[in-house]
Amino acid sequence: MRPAVGDPLRACPECPGPEYGGAPDCARCRALVDAILTEEWEAFLLREGLEDGPEVAALVVQEPDRHDWRVVDAALERLVCPECGHASGRGPVGCGPCALAHGFRYAAVETDRPGAVPGNEHAVRVNVSVVRRPHGVSAREVLVRRLLLPRLLSGDLPTTARAQAAKDRINGMGLAEIEALFPRMLESPGADLP
Ligand SMILES: [Zn+2]
Ligand SMILES: [Zn+2]
Repeated sequence: MRPAVGDPLRACPECPGPEYGGAPDCARCRALVDAILTEEWEAFLLREGLEDGPEVAALVVQEPDRHDWRVVDAALERLVCPECGHASGRGPVGCGPCALAHGFRYAAVETDRPGAVPGNEHAVRVNVSVVRRPHGVSAREVLVRRLLLPRLLSGDLPTTARAQAAKDRINGMGLAEIEALFPRMLESPGADLP
């Protein structure tokens, strides 16, 4: 179950940091991130009285602007790219149909949860999207997205000034130093980490 607004960060028993922060390398965190989509997909099927399958997925993907982003992302997961054979939109860099499908997913609906900072849901979806499709993204950016995701899921969203300050600080750090921030997020959840 996805964390609710205001939920504290919980330690992942399988990686040195909060739950959701270890994806894609930590299998447990990866499964949690995938469940964000699956949970909403199942609720959608139930609500609409539909059977799971590629037919429904294809219909959803044709009208991304009519569906929640999680439903669209879950639908893409159920379709196979005709060119590379991966889940639609998650193929290697350079796959044309995947690039197209990946672009379309951003037309989907993003609804902020009550109590979340406005724009939070967009930030959640962008960070989920990056950790689920890290190809072509720098290791540093993936790390920063991973750091942000657990806090975003709790409804937080750094102000522009805070985000910029965190960015400046992180730009001066090596990758190992950034990795070391993960356990620290659990020690001092109020600390002004990114
Ligand atoms: Zn983990
Ligand atoms: Zn492809």
